[in-house]
Amino acid sequence: MPNYEYKCLDCGKESELNLSMSEHDRGKITCPACKSARMEQLISAISAKTSRKS
Ligand SMILES: [Zn+2]
Repeated sequence: MPNYEYKCLDCGKESELNLSMSEHDRGKITCPACKSARMEQLISAISAKTSRKS
């Protein structure tokens, strides 16, 4: 299951979340700290973890 890193736009907390593809596609992401739905995805961590030789 892929990890997604998000930053909350309301409280500023960064959270690493395990989401299924369907959860991610639906975009129903809420901040674990303040329950805000205004989450911005940080993509740098994903590319670092999933880098493969092509
Ligand atoms: Zn928050």
